[in-house]
Amino acid sequence: MAKIKSYDLICIGGGSAGFNAARVAADLGRKAAVIDGARELGGLCILKGCMPSKTLLYTAEILHHARTAAKFGLRVRGAAPDMRAVHARKKRIIGEFADYRQRALTAGKFDLIRAQAKFEDAHTVLLSDGRRLRAKFFLIGTGSKISVPPVPGLREAKFWTSDDVLDLDFLPQSVLVLGGGIVACELAQFLSRMGTKVTLIQRSRHILRDHSEAASEVVQRAFVDEGIELFAGTKILAIKQDARGTTVRFEHDGRVITRRAAHLFNALGREPNTAGLGLDAAGVRTRPDGQIVINRWQQTSAPHIYAAGDCSGPHEIVHVAIQQAELAVRHAFGVKGLKPVDYSLLLNVVFTDPQLATVGSLESELQAKGTPYLAASYPFDDHGKSILMEAKYGYVKVLADPKRGRILGAEIVGKDAGELIHVISVAMAQRGTVFDLLRAPWYHPTLAEILTYPLEEIADRIRGA
Ligand SMILES: Cc1cc2nc3c(=O)[nH]c(=O)nc-3n(C[C@H](O)[C@H](O)[C@H](O)COP(=O)(O)OP(=O)(O)OC[C@H]3O[C@@H](n4cnc5c(N)ncnc54)[C@H](O)[C@@H]3O)c2cc1C
Repeated sequence: MAKIKSYDLICIGGGSAGFNAARVAADLGRKAAVIDGARELGGLCILKGCMPSKTLLYTAEILHHARTAAKFGLRVRGAAPDMRAVHARKKRIIGEFADYRQRALTAGKFDLIRAQAKFEDAHTVLLSDGRRLRAKFFLIGTGSKISVPPVPGLREAKFWTSDDVLDLDFLPQSVLVLGGGIVACELAQFLSRMGTKVTLIQRSRHILRDHSEAASEVVQRAFVDEGIELFAGTKILAIKQDARGTTVRFEHDGRVITRRAAHLFNALGREPNTAGLGLDAAGVRTRPDGQIVINRWQQTSAPHIYAAGDCSGPHEIVHVAIQQAELAVRHAFGVKGLKPVDYSLLLNVVFTDPQLATVGSLESELQAKGTPYLAASYPFDDHGKSILMEAKYGYVKVLADPKRGRILGAEIVGKDAGELIHVISVAMAQRGTVFDLLRAPWYHPTLAEILTYPLEEIADRIRGA
C-alpha cells in the first residue's frame, strides 16, 4: 500500500481563507498544502465576487456620469454600453488577477493539489483522484454557494445567479431581481445603469436590511430616482415561466401585483459550502444551515480542525476571511500573543451609488445593549465638495462614547462612502477619540472633511457637559 503523504497543515479550499492560511503556515516554516477542486483557481472574490462586480459597477458609474453630464453643463451624446467590450475588459482584468493568484498558489511555498477533498477521519482526507492525505492540522475554507430558498416556483424556474449577471456579454432587456441584499442591490443598479429595465422585489421592509433603515432609505431613493422599480415588504406567491420570460406574482401593501421580465435573477443569498465534506467523520459540528461552528480561535468542535471565511461566517467578507485564516494558523502553530478577530471593528461596504459603509457598532446595536453614546450626523447636500460634485444623497454619522469621545462607530451613505469610512476605521483601530481625529489636518475642499462636522458637534457636546 502506498504511503500516505502527511502535512503540518492542509487547507481545503484555495480562496481568500485557504490561500492566506497556507501562506502564513509556509512563512512559519511549516509543511502545508492547499487542496482546491475548482476548474479555475482564484476563489470567489477574484473570479465571481468582489473584483468582477466592482469592475462592472465602475463601468456603469462612468456611463451614468456620461448620461447625466448635462447637469454639469456638458453635452455627451451617444453614451451607450458595448456589452461585448465591457465583458471582454472584465475578463481581461479578472484573468490578470486570477493569474497572479495562480502564480502565488504554484510558487512552491506549499503544495497545491487540484482535487475535491472530504474527510475520511479526523486526520485523513480522501481526494477525488483516489489519493489520501494526512495532516496534524486542517483549515476548512470551502466558501459558500448560491442558495435557493423555498420561494414558490423558484426551484423549478430557470434563473440567473450573480455568476451569470457578472458574465453577461449582452444587455438584457428586462430583469426581475429577487432579493434586496448587497449582491442584489449592487447588480440591480449595474443592470439598470447599463440600460436594462430592472424590477427589484424584496421580502424585508427595506433593502439592505442589515443596515439602518435611514441609510437604506437613501439608497432606495437613489434607485427609484434612477428608474429602478422597487417593491419592499413583499411575499412572493408564484413564479411562472414561458418561452419569452418570467412572471412573478407577489403581495405588496395588501395588493397582489404581477411583474414580468425577460430574465429572472435569484439574488436571495448564499449558504455555507460544507455538504459533502464528510464533516461527521471528522467530528466537526455544523449549524442546521451548514455553517461550521467555530470558537474565537477559529477551532471547530475537532480542535485541530479550523475553519475560516464564508463556510463558518459570521461575516462573509474577504478581509474577515483573511483575518480569520491567519489567526487560525498562528493559533494552530502556537504563535504567542494572539488576539481573536475584533468584530467591534467590523467594516462593511455596499458598492451601490450612493455607497453605504459602516464601521464598528451600529446605533441600533448600542441601543439594544444599553450602551451610552452620542451621535451626530451631517448631510452631503450641505457640504461644499459634494455639492460641486452633484453628489448630494446621504449623510455621515459618527457615534462616540459620551465621556471621553472614543469613537464607537460610524455610518456613511453617500459618494465614496467606502473610501471615507477608512478615516474612522483607522481611528477606531487606534481606539481614537473625536478629539484625536480633530487634531488631524483636513484638506479643503474634500469629501473627507465632511466628517469634521459630526466630530466637532460631539466634541462640543462633551466639552459643554
Ligand atoms: C457578487 C459578489 C460580490 C462580492 N463582493 C464583495 C466585496 O465587494 N467585498 C467583500 O469583502 N466581499 C465580497 N463578496 C464576498 C466574498 O467574495 C467572500 O466573502 C469571499 O470570497 C469568501 O472567501 P472564502 O475563502 O471563504 O471562499 P472562496 O473564495 O469561495 O473559496 C472556496 C474555495 O474552496 C474550494 N472548495 C470548495 N469545496 C471544496 C472541496 N470539497 N475540496 C476542495 N476544494 C473545495 C472552491 O473551489 C473555492 O476555490 C462578494 C460575493 C459575491 C458573490
